[in-house]
Formats: sequence, C-alpha cells, structure tokens
Amino acid sequence: SSCVHPRRAPYTPVPPPTPLPLVSRLFQPSNLREGQESTELTCRSQRLMLQTGFLHPSNPGCFYYLPATVRSMEKLVRLIDQEMQAIGGQKLDMPALCAADLWRRSGRWDLMGKEMFRLRDRHGIDYCLGPTHEEAVTELLASQANLSYRQLPLLLYQVTRKFRDEQKPKFGLLRGREFYMKDMYSFDVSEEAAHHTYQSVCQAYGRLFDRLGLRWVQVRADTGNIGGTLSHEFQLPADVGEDRLLTCGSCSFSANVELVEPGRADCPQCQSGTLVESKGIEVGHTFYLGTKYSQVFQATFNTAQNKPALAEMGCFGLGVTRILAAAIEVLSSDDGIRWPGLLAPYQVCVLPPKKGSKTMELVGLAEELALRLASLSGLRGEVVLDDRTQMTIGKRLKDASQLGYPYVVVVGQGAAVEQQQQQQQQPKFEVICQQSGETLFLSR
Ligand code: ATP
Ligand code: MG
Ligand code: MG
Ligand code: MG
Repeated sequence: SSCVHPRRAPYTPVPPPTPLPLVSRLFQPSNLREGQESTELTCRSQRLMLQTGFLHPSNPGCFYYLPATVRSMEKLVRLIDQEMQAIGGQKLDMPALCAADLWRRSGRWDLMGKEMFRLRDRHGIDYCLGPTHEEAVTELLASQANLSYRQLPLLLYQVTRKFRDEQKPKFGLLRGREFYMKDMYSFDVSEEAAHHTYQSVCQAYGRLFDRLGLRWVQVRADTGNIGGTLSHEFQLPADVGEDRLLTCGSCSFSANVELVEPGRADCPQCQSGTLVESKGIEVGHTFYLGTKYSQVFQATFNTAQNKPALAEMGCFGLGVTRILAAAIEVLSSDDGIRWPGLLAPYQVCVLPPKKGSKTMELVGLAEELALRLASLSGLRGEVVLDDRTQMTIGKRLKDASQLGYPYVVVVGQGAAVEQQQQQQQQPKFEVICQQSGETLFLSR
C-alpha cells in the first residue's frame, strides 16, 4: 500500500544501574559544634538532625536540607501523593511570588502583618513570597469561564516551599521561616458536598499518620487569619509541642486552647467531663471556608440550571518538613534517630569487618550480600555499605544506631565461625532490627 509508516528505533528507556552507596562517600557532615548543645539547640530532633548530617544551618529558620533529609522527604511526599490522589486530588504547582493585588482584594495584605515576606519588583509592583495560596488558587478557578458543576468537586494541591517571617523560628524544622507544606484546595457545588470533601480529606490525613505509625489526635481549632467556619488540627502529642490541647475525660471533645476559653475546666460539649490539658505539635490543619474567597474573586461554576453559583471551598495543609522533624521528635531517643519505617532515608546498612581483623576475608562476602539485597525489588537503592573498614564494627554500629537505619546487617565473627565449622552451611549474618531492638541470625 502507499501508506508507509516510518520505522523508528523502539524506545526502550532503561534506567542506569544504581551503584551501591558507600557510607564513606555519603555527604552527611555532622554540624554539631562543641558547646552548642546546651545553648542553641532547643529540642531533640534538631540536635539529632544536625549531629547526624541531615541539616546544615543557614539563616535563622532556614536550613540546607542535606541528601538524607531529601530522601526522607521524597518518601513522605510520595505517601502524601498516594493519599491525596486516592481521594481525587490533582497536583499542580503555583508561583511562590504572589502579587500584592490579589492579597489586597481578600483584605489579607494588611491582615498578615509582619509574618509576610514582602518585596517589590523593578516596576515598583509589590509582591509577597507565598505563605499560603487561597488567593492564588481561587483566582485560578475564577479565570475558568465555563466551569461546569459536572467538573466538581475539584481538589487541587501542591507541595511547595512556603515563606513566613516567624517571630521566633526555632526547634529546627518544626518552625522554620522557609518550609515545605502540602496545601490542598477544594471546590464543591454545595455546602453539603463541601462537608463531604472535608471529611474525606480528614480521613486521608488519619490514614497517612497511621501508615507512618505515629500517634495523632484530631482537635477542633481556631480558623485564624485563613478564615472560615469549621476547622480541625492534626496534632502529635509531644511535650516540645507549642500547642496546648484540651481533651475531655468523658466524651469525644478535644480542642486547641486557642478555641476554648483557656483555663476552662468543664467540658463545653458534655458539660459533665473534666478537661485535661496536654501539648501537641500541629502537623496538619483543615478548614471549611465556605464562599469567603470564591465571593471575593467570583469563583463560580455553572449549575445544572445553567446559572452561575459560587464554589464552596475548603483548604487543607500538611507541614511536610514539620512532619519529618516531629516524627523524629516523638520516636527517637537522645542517643539516636528512630524513623517511621517508610521514611528512613535508607532501609539497610551492611557492615563488613574491620581491616586487619581475623575475619577480614569476609569483606568481599559483605559486599556481595549488600549487592544481593539491593537487587531485591523492595530494596532497590535502599542498601548502603559501611565501607569505613578502618573503624571497628562497634564504632560503626554506634553510628548506624544514631542514624536509625531500620536494619543493620553485621558480617563478622558469626559469619566466619559458621563458615569454618560447618563448611556445608551458608554463613550466618547478624541482623539488627533497630525499631524493636531484636537481633536475628540469618543465612543467605
Ligand atoms: P503554627 O500554629 O505552628 O504557627 P499555623 O497554624 O500558622 O502553624 P497553618 O497556616 O495552619 O500553620 O499551616 C498548615 C501547616 O503548615 C501547619 O499545620 C504546620 O504543620 C505547617 N507549618 C506552619 N508553619 C510552619 C513553620 N513555620 N515551619 C514548619 N511548618 C509549618
Ligand atoms: Mg503560624
Ligand atoms: Mg496553629
Ligand atoms: Mg494552623
């Protein structure tokens, strides 16, 4: 026939092989200076993250996120993506540079006060570095002239840097001036539909924290300068937390003190229970906004009767970098980091014996084991080899314990003895599960 398809080389995207990461080559410099501990460091996660090379301090409330932190954060973002997309969320990315005009229209240019980083461009136009994006996303929706009720609910979210000139940046990643947030904005056809969306986001948040293995509470919260009529916070109970929570001993009531009168002892819900105060780290915040922003920007959709109506909105934040630090804060001891299993930068560290020791011939065996583990589908890129064989196993074990690899595999005495005495059998490796503190002896 005359219809000839041009022959193309088949497109076979083969990723390059992942080399085995060597501990001696990982960029994780300790940033803890002598004497700094007692003066500047205010909490456990900050001390551990500086000590073990996860963070390097920059300006107040700003940090270099070193490679291990980025690995953890990418894992967290993947989990968040799964949860948000499971409820219909679509990911986008909005400009960090926001025109003052938008914020003047909502009245928040003045309301935000000193917390907003403000700047002016070469034409004399005012901007801010986005501390949150209700204005921007609502304007985006308002620009869609023919949005139909059939396209709602619409859930748009992003994971981006946010900028807030906090009065007291402290506790490392727990309160930065530049930090990552996941912020989702929902648009619904009615108040009822918006409440339904609100519930499904709250459930997704609960699932996320469950999957991370973190103990969490959902409390009623103040709507602050975001506005709206209904709001909850997701809090991790912790003494270092800056939020004070009141929980009723008799009913389900739980609220941030910012909402109930502080000092109140009797429960406003059941009137009979006593309120108990505890502290928490706010890791997520949900708001039902109604038409507060859609009214201002005229974000409308066409109803089934082909009449324009204002979208009912919600907004939903998760503190991405705060969750990382908060998880370390609540799970770790002073001696070392313990991660939610899903967030550890690497899953396994393999320790070959010390150079010059009796079992030195096992170095090759350790490398072989590390490569074999790394070839398992669930462990691809997740296995590191602590090749610093000039150091004793004990010293490297201590480092590994401080960094918090979920599994440490020691190729040492045990493997050698097995190999000599029972030539027929496979060598045995000592596998330390850091979460439970258990040690197992496994063969290949
Ligand atoms: P906070 O009360 O701690 O100042 P917020 O109520 O001002 O927080 P939201 O506007 O509700 O914060 O932002 C959503 C989420 O972003 C918060 O629940 C929190 O997890 C995270 N977050 C807010 N401020 C910071 C910050 N300075 N550093 C790191 N994460 C933050
Ligand atoms: Mg704040
Ligand atoms: Mg708050
Ligand atoms: Mg909040």
